[in-house]
Amino acid sequence: MEQMMRSVLLSMAKNRTANRMAQRYGLRFGANRFVAGETLESAIDTVRNLNRQGLKVTLDHLGEFVSDASEANKLADDCIDTVRAIHRANADATLSVKMTQLGMDIGLDVCMANMRRILGEANQYGISVNIDMEDFPRCQQTLDIFDTLRQEYSNVSTVIQAYLYRSLEDVLRLGQQGAAIRIVKGAYKEPEEVAYPEKQDVDANYVKLMEAQLLSNGYTMIATHDEKIIDHAKTFVAAHNIPADKFEFQMLYGIRTNLQEQLVKEGYQVRVYVPYGTDWYGYFMRRLAERPANVGFVLRGVLH
Ligand code: FAD
Repeated sequence: MEQMMRSVLLSMAKNRTANRMAQRYGLRFGANRFVAGETLESAIDTVRNLNRQGLKVTLDHLGEFVSDASEANKLADDCIDTVRAIHRANADATLSVKMTQLGMDIGLDVCMANMRRILGEANQYGISVNIDMEDFPRCQQTLDIFDTLRQEYSNVSTVIQAYLYRSLEDVLRLGQQGAAIRIVKGAYKEPEEVAYPEKQDVDANYVKLMEAQLLSNGYTMIATHDEKIIDHAKTFVAAHNIPADKFEFQMLYGIRTNLQEQLVKEGYQVRVYVPYGTDWYGYFMRRLAERPANVGFVLRGVLH
């Protein structure tokens, strides 16, 4: 039942009509639990609050699966505004972007030009930019973009998803080259030809990828709310004398906030992924799919 619900929610996440409707009606149905508002000002307020609690941030100006070049260029302008606002606020924050937000589905040239504009601006202020990983059909091209941009800029990182069979090979290759990698379980609906269908296999692969990256020359971003994996990471870094500045924990805005604060108190670096903007629908649906029990709280909000 839960599996079916997850599958329905992930299919709905890509529904363009529902997305347009959601944008028209504004941040509703409990989405503000996961999204820090629709404006840059509200996002910067959230960043300041989190920084005050000792939490670092990565800001995501929401947008994905764009099919129009002028929209992709406009979203890149918005990302540059975000970078400038982080700098002006003297905030402890990086930027996270999606390649389909910046035009990857329109043409590689559009996406690369937008990425170079963003990375150039961010580089001036010492701000890092992370390339989020999207669905499997876009994985290889996203990694190719990362490989190219990494030759030109030192402030770029990307994401590897534990549910994909190919990921250990990717982590070993990138880690050897000293790349900064965020490791996640994976948030999209993928067929079993490319991804582990069973959660226990995804969890086991996550641990393998995390250990490989922690032992590599690269920086490791351990992005999960899974306490078993977080405890395993703590034991592993202690056993291997991995310095505190070689890794960080990452969690999503609005999820397991007590755990975020507890890790800060224990002295670990913790970064919160903070999305903002009007294009919140797909992001919100993926958060519901991760934990179908969340649908209950949405329904309570609607009926209230
Ligand atoms: P799970 O086993 O799913 O969850 C562990 C526990 O966390 C659950 O028992 C529950 O208590 C809590 N939890 C998890 N999700 C929720 C939720 N939605 N609501 C309430 N509680 C929850 N995925 C990508 O595919 N590409 C990316 O670029 C990407 N970037 C990410 C960046 C960050 C910082 C994080 C934290 C995640 C990112 N993800 C990304 C999402 C990721 O792939 C998972 O879908 C998500 O993190 C849930 O998996 P989990 O590791 O928390 O483990």
